[in-house]
Amino acid sequence: MLKRKIVKIDEEKCTGCGLCVTPCAEGAIEIVDGKAKVLREELCDGAGFCLSVCPTGALSIEEREAPTFDKKAAAKHAKPAAHEINCFSCGQGEDTRALIPVRIKGESLWVCTHCLPKLIHG
Ligand code: SF4
Repeated sequence: MLKRKIVKIDEEKCTGCGLCVTPCAEGAIEIVDGKAKVLREELCDGAGFCLSVCPTGALSIEEREAPTFDKKAAAKHAKPAAHEINCFSCGQGEDTRALIPVRIKGESLWVCTHCLPKLIHG
C-alpha cells in the first residue's frame, strides 16, 4: 500500500451505464449490481482515461492509500474492447489512429487525432 492516484466512483451519480468499462484497458472497472466498481485496485493505474466518458460525472481521481499498481497483472487482464471504438467524425478505428474521449453536447464520444484539430479550431 502506498499513497497514489486512483479512480474514485461516486455511486450516487453512477447509473451503471457501463461506458467506463471499455476505456479501462486494464479491466479494473466492472459493473456490479448496477454500479461501476474498481474491483481490483491494483489494476487501476490512475491515468483517468475513463473519466471523460462518464455522462454523469461519477468518476474522479483521488489520492489515497491503495495497493501498488501491478503493471504485469494489468497487462494480463487487458482485454480487447467489448465493441469497436471509432472516431465519431471520420469513423476511423483505434487500429489506425489514436482516439481520445471527448464530451460534446452532453454525449461521450471518441475523436481521432486527425479530427481533433477540426474540433478545436473549427
Ligand atoms: S460511465 Fe459513469 S455512470 Fe456509467 S457506469 Fe461508469 S461511472 Fe457509472
